[in-house]
Amino acid sequence: MTVTNPAQEPSSASNGVYTSSLGRAALPRDRFPVPSADPEAVYQLIHDEVELDGNSSQNLATFCTTWSEPLARALMGESLGKNMIDKDEYPQTAEIEQRCVRMLSDLWHGPDPEHALGCSTTGSSEACMLGGLAMKWRWRKARQAAGRPADRPNIVCGPVQICWKKFARYFDVELREVPLLPGATGLRPEQLRAHVDENTIGVVAILGVTFTCDYEPVAALAAELDAIQAETGLDVPIHVDAASGGFIAPFVQPDLVWDFRVPRVVSVNASGHKYGLAPLGVGWVVWREPELLPEELVFYVDYLGGNMPTFALNFSRPGGEIIAQYYLFLRLGREGYRQTQQSCLDTAAHLGEQIAAMGPFTLLYDGRGALPGISYTLTDPGSTPYTLYDLSAKLRERGWQIAAYPLPADRQDTVVHRILVRREISYDKASLFLDDMRRAVTQLSGAVAAPAPSTAGPVSFHH
Ligand SMILES: *Cc1c(COP(=O)(O)O)cnc(C)c1O
Repeated sequence: MTVTNPAQEPSSASNGVYTSSLGRAALPRDRFPVPSADPEAVYQLIHDEVELDGNSSQNLATFCTTWSEPLARALMGESLGKNMIDKDEYPQTAEIEQRCVRMLSDLWHGPDPEHALGCSTTGSSEACMLGGLAMKWRWRKARQAAGRPADRPNIVCGPVQICWKKFARYFDVELREVPLLPGATGLRPEQLRAHVDENTIGVVAILGVTFTCDYEPVAALAAELDAIQAETGLDVPIHVDAASGGFIAPFVQPDLVWDFRVPRVVSVNASGHKYGLAPLGVGWVVWREPELLPEELVFYVDYLGGNMPTFALNFSRPGGEIIAQYYLFLRLGREGYRQTQQSCLDTAAHLGEQIAAMGPFTLLYDGRGALPGISYTLTDPGSTPYTLYDLSAKLRERGWQIAAYPLPADRQDTVVHRILVRREISYDKASLFLDDMRRAVTQLSGAVAAPAPSTAGPVSFHH
């Protein structure tokens, strides 16, 4: 086949990107293109296309970082060619990953941070899989050692993020997702007894429930498991899914006991790319002590002529995310993270107060005591002439993206809005949003005769 040399093509930049042959037709969509093309024209046209995406800085639905400091970007850019799995070629990146693990063990009150065991991952999803696998392997070994059947493992949790459903299905573990009690925002201790048994590999406690932003009471869940052990002999470990809360609680709720201070907590995961403030692509899992990671799950790779243990689902991954995370730990320190997260919490609480004062809404979580976010419902959906889906669509007209969804079982009939406040959602931006929200509520309330678009099925417009 013929390959055109781009250097011989006339530069479409000088002719104008939009008058080049590429610019005067639809971009290739289905067939692998044959000719090469001018980089500036391709860049500009793809740039224009991805601008059709939502504006990430107005995305109030995501936990993930949407803004990075220029110097974090610079380090990411400089690491573009580095594969973090090549420990021998890039020993400093490997060293920096281990430093981050030790710092996290320290942050989460591990018993011996200098010898902490853990690793970076692509995000919390992979980290949760690793935490879950370690629990499954330990449970199976114990069962086999006791001569008991080890073929029907289960895992007990509240309203978990989808990654735990994946873990359960991919790795053949029964997911015992305990339904929400009326008024509850997550798993409650009194629910454990009915679901935990000899086949339970562990309980997942969530520090920052995806659906409500609230924390599950890790210490109280552990105390209940202590009581269950005293009665039945079952010793059930806890993995804390601290995807968001792992980078909030240590800084702004330091007295909340949820981490390795709770003896039953064997492992913790967190998303570096959520409140860890790193750019997208990094998560972490840390074990209380190295013995908790079964040897069979560990593979050894060459490292400075020696051997380095690795435990991961991926092989190749960019090293830049890890380096950017280390930059943020050093750059912000505990003090910088505390200031950042506290100002997010203050903004969230302000949003909560203002939205509650608008009238039609009831807060499920008011932005105080857990994640910097709020969740709310319509107080009286039956007599409100719009749904939260309609309100989301209305706000989208101004570019705001807000998640509207039903709560998990047994509260599926409750539709909620969740708003997350991240570093880049400033007080001022929140104020601009509130102005738009008040306008949207007024318009939707007044538009009784003209049905507003609804994605939520039939809406009653009667008065
Ligand atoms: C976001 C989230 C996850 C998944 O994390 P990723 O980093 O997106 O893979 C898991 N659990 C909880 C509680 C989360 O909020």
